[in-house]
Amino acid sequence: MKPKDVKRLQRLARGLRVRPIAKDMLVVESKSSASGHHIVTIHYDENGTLRCRCSCAWAAHGGYGCSHVMAALAYLAEKRRRAISFWPTREDAERQRNRMLRLVGSQSDDENGLWITTRPLRQPA
Ligand SMILES: [Zn+2]
Repeated sequence: MKPKDVKRLQRLARGLRVRPIAKDMLVVESKSSASGHHIVTIHYDENGTLRCRCSCAWAAHGGYGCSHVMAALAYLAEKRRRAISFWPTREDAERQRNRMLRLVGSQSDDENGLWITTRPLRQPA
């Protein structure tokens, strides 16, 4: 299952601190859990599909595209001087005319997924 309000989550994700602990494994600050953080792992398929795992309750119930995963992906993109945006449908993403990636759950073969567009990060003047 995917989140209903992608743009709200994306805003939420911007406020979360991220710390990498291994290749494609990151610790993301949590606003809701008692432990104060979640572990996100990212798996890249060859065809531009990302499978992400998170230790939060949403992910444990089969959800994907939580704010922690968004925060982790945004962090990794920034390291490569890219900015990313999340979109609920392929049509929304295609309108941006940027490079596209797809985010799906770690177990499901959800045909749908969430869509990610990536663009170069503007250099500070
Ligand atoms: Zn999560």
